[in-house]
Amino acid sequence: MKKIAVIGGGASGMMAAITAHDKSSKVTLFEANDRVGKKLLATGNGKCNFTNEKLNKNCYNGGDRKFIMNVINRFDPDNLVDFFCGLGVFSTVKRDGYYYPYSGQASTILDCLRNELSYRGVNVITEATVKEIKKSSKGYTLSVLADGKKKTFDFDSVIIAIGSIAGLKNKSQDEHYKLINSLDLDFVPVVPSLVQLKCSESFLKALSGVRFDGSISLLLNGKVVAKENGEIQLTDYGVSGIPTFQLSRIASYELADNNKPEVSLDFLPDISEEELTQLIMYRPVRNTEQTAEEYFLGITNKKVILQVMKMAGIKSSTAACLINKQSKAKVVKLLKDMRLHVEDTNGFENAQVCAGGVDLLELNEGMMLKKWPGIFVVGEACDVDGRCGGYNLQWAFSSGYIAGTFASGKNR
Ligand SMILES: Cc1cc2nc3c(=O)[nH]c(=O)nc-3n(C[C@H](O)[C@H](O)[C@H](O)COP(=O)(O)OP(=O)(O)OC[C@H]3O[C@@H](n4cnc5c(N)ncnc54)[C@H](O)[C@@H]3O)c2cc1C
Repeated sequence: MKKIAVIGGGASGMMAAITAHDKSSKVTLFEANDRVGKKLLATGNGKCNFTNEKLNKNCYNGGDRKFIMNVINRFDPDNLVDFFCGLGVFSTVKRDGYYYPYSGQASTILDCLRNELSYRGVNVITEATVKEIKKSSKGYTLSVLADGKKKTFDFDSVIIAIGSIAGLKNKSQDEHYKLINSLDLDFVPVVPSLVQLKCSESFLKALSGVRFDGSISLLLNGKVVAKENGEIQLTDYGVSGIPTFQLSRIASYELADNNKPEVSLDFLPDISEEELTQLIMYRPVRNTEQTAEEYFLGITNKKVILQVMKMAGIKSSTAACLINKQSKAKVVKLLKDMRLHVEDTNGFENAQVCAGGVDLLELNEGMMLKKWPGIFVVGEACDVDGRCGGYNLQWAFSSGYIAGTFASGKNR
């Protein structure tokens, strides 16, 4: 009987354990928390967007995309939907190909995974933190802290599924990645990704709460390096919403390199600057009583219009017929290209994922470390991060499945 340890009971660890455990492989799963799958419950705003029908290589960043797709193609979105269907989960596809459980509850996914671990007889030990992995004569010895005591366990294979520090409060990087660091692996520095951006402009306080369908561009040295469309949210400290999350990875790495990225907001992406200039220059004044505020009202969100007028030097009470061309040109410019200086991200604890992790070059096609035969690394602990849309959970499940298959010898 082969003995396999899984360290971490998140999406990737649970999938690895379920896949590996069978008549000839006995799996023990160690989870530091008092229960498995805590992070899963927070995914997709509590609804768990677990995969996406529009998945392709461009949905992923980090190491070699060929490697990533080679793992995902062996357990792809269809396989994952079928897997959950086999556990009794009805799925539904929403806007942009996002898959959710039909129940609209992340707990549906977690309950079914927990039940499956139990039906298969996986030995799940919670409140057990693995502190050390040491090579032994036959395999590996794990030192585990449980109930305030250190215990050791011997295994033939170990699957490391510890995830990342994204979304966790008060978790230090050093502590989290200690196990991995002890294995002397190439490790790509981690930064928060799929996260809000903090900007220095004090006028954001006046715009807090605004949501608009617009576009956001990330600029470095004045040049656009990425652009996203969709619902952008403004907060008192900066920008949020899915389009911002999608850009945040690049901003994060630039900030880590002490660069100073900017974002540009376009409040009216469906209208070109030329068209907007025409519309605003020749916007008729309704009557001599009409104020500047009344004149600009209706173009976009009122808070935005008022702030833009202020920045263009136009008083709300000014008579509309007195607004000059230069001021109108400034309004156009600000609506199409409002610049904000990014000074930080909203940190690991507010991020959905971490970019960076164990370099994929350390791994073979079965997610096993080339330097440490019998040790596998899966999920977010690897240098793979996906865009918003279910791609991160798909990676966690696919990589967990592959490692579980190889660790138990089912690939043969
Ligand atoms: C708020 C939020 C929303 C998200 N929404 C989505 C979404 O809708 N769709 C999507 O695809 N992705 C989403 N993600 C990302 C997704 O949740 C992660 O990418 C995924 O859960 C990673 O799975 P994992 O198994 O690698 O790690 P995790 O799920 O983080 O699991 C790792 C587990 O290992 C345990 N552990 C760590 N160290 C040890 C140790 N030494 N000993 C024992 N146990 C240990 C941890 O306690 C944890 O339970 C979201 C993330 C957050 C934070």
